[in-house]
Formats: sequence, structure tokens, C-alpha cells
Amino acid sequence: MNSETSTENIDILRNGLVSFGINPDEIMLDRFEKYREILVEYNKVMNLTGITEQKEVYIKHFLDSVAILKEGYIKDNMSVIDVGTGAGFPGFPYKICNPTLKLTLLDSLNKRINFLKAVGEGLEFEDIEYVHGRAEDIAKDKNHREKYDISTARAVANLPVLLELCVPYVKIGGFFICLKGPNVDKELSEAKKAMNILGVEMVEKIDVSLPDEELNHNILVFKKIKKTPNKYPRKAGTPAKSPL
Ligand code: SAM
Repeated sequence: MNSETSTENIDILRNGLVSFGINPDEIMLDRFEKYREILVEYNKVMNLTGITEQKEVYIKHFLDSVAILKEGYIKDNMSVIDVGTGAGFPGFPYKICNPTLKLTLLDSLNKRINFLKAVGEGLEFEDIEYVHGRAEDIAKDKNHREKYDISTARAVANLPVLLELCVPYVKIGGFFICLKGPNVDKELSEAKKAMNILGVEMVEKIDVSLPDEELNHNILVFKKIKKTPNKYPRKAGTPAKSPL
């Protein structure tokens, strides 16, 4: 049993947001809590997350997702695609913190897309695009290929695979931003070839510390410097089977 009260948890969320350069108002805090309630409700009938307790959701899903916002890459009105968004992380927390973002949420599981639509409706966001499909397939669509200022992902694949799934969405000059756990350095050393082929260079690795969390979290930022060759991503399943 967690001993914190809801008010204490809301303070953890509020203070965490402030530490990431966000100025939370009541609408923002209400939206985060409403999102958690919908998540917990849908999680009873579909597999969305193992984390449902209020404090844990606030820290491990919400604050973990928005830590990048203070770095200034994601600016007002930018187009952002969250690849393999699952239950909406990190995309929805970005949108809650900055409603001006043009957000696209992409996942290969249709059930999850239905859940995401329910969250979007519940939070009264009318301008989110929900895309059901494999990242490898949707990246071939001219409405999505090299159309985004930012592509982002958390917990979807190892870095060489993830780069192939996500970089094709980014415009030249835009950024691919991913959240990574403790194996980040090993993944980075394995991703050099993929970075070269797909047309990105690494900008920075940012260490993130979260309240009450001992695990090391990292954010990787890559800048798109040239066009991704048309043959990438390869057909669905190939990037994971045979990483670049
Ligand atoms: N990003 C979320 C998070 O951090 O909680 C979800 C992570 S979950 C472990 C991975 C998600 O990626 C799943 O929802 C899965 O359906 C989706 N996914 C995996 N491979 C994909 C692909 N090739 N194209 C689209 N979605 C994919």
C-alpha cells in the first residue's frame, strides 16, 4: 500500500513538472489525473500498463515522458509523431503540457488506438491524429514521410531498429528524440551505422532523474541532417530481424 495521499501525489506531479520547466495550471493537472483514470479503467479490460497506482503513474509515465520539454527542442505548434505510443507515452503528456502541438499517435495495435481516442475525447483534444499501422508501412506514406518536426518513442525497440522506424518521419532539420534505460551506451555504440544510413547525427544524451526513482533514465536527441534513402524503413519486421 502506498502511504501518500492524492494531494501529496499531485504535489509530486506539480513539483516534477516545475523542475522540467513546465508551469502547471489546474487544467493541466486535471487532464493528467483524468488520463490516469481512463487508463486505469481501460486497463481492466485490455493490457495497457502494469503501472496504475497514482504516484507511480505520475512519476514513471507522466514525468518520465515530459522530462525532455525543458531542453527546448519541442516548441509551440510543432508537429510531433509518437511511434509505438502504446497507452500514449510520451505523446499525450507532451500534448497535455503544450496543447499547441500537432500530435500524431501511431501504434500497430488497433485496440490501443481505440483507447487513445477515448483519452483524446476525455481530455477534450480535438486535433490529435491517430494512426493504426506498422511504423515501417506508414513511413512510406507521403502524408507522413519526412513531414514532422519531431519524432519520438519510448520502449519500442533497440536503438538501431528504433532509428529505422522513426527517422524516416522527420523533416531535414528536425529531431528524433527517444527515451532510453540503463543500456543506452551499448545501444549507441551499435547504432552508428544506422545513424549514418538514415541521415541523423547525435546531438546529445541527457541524464534524467525522477522523484523516488533510482534507475538511470536517458534521453537521446538526434538531428536529421540529410534525406533518408527511400528504401528505408525496410518491410515490416525486417528492421527487428536484421538491424542495420
Ligand atoms: N511507448 C509506450 C510506452 O512507453 O509506454 C508503449 C511501449 S510498448 C512496450 C511498445 C508499443 O509499440 C506497443 O504498443 C506496440 O504495439 C508498438 N509497436 C511495436 N512495434 C511497432 C511497429 N513496428 N509499428 C508500430 N507500433 C509498434
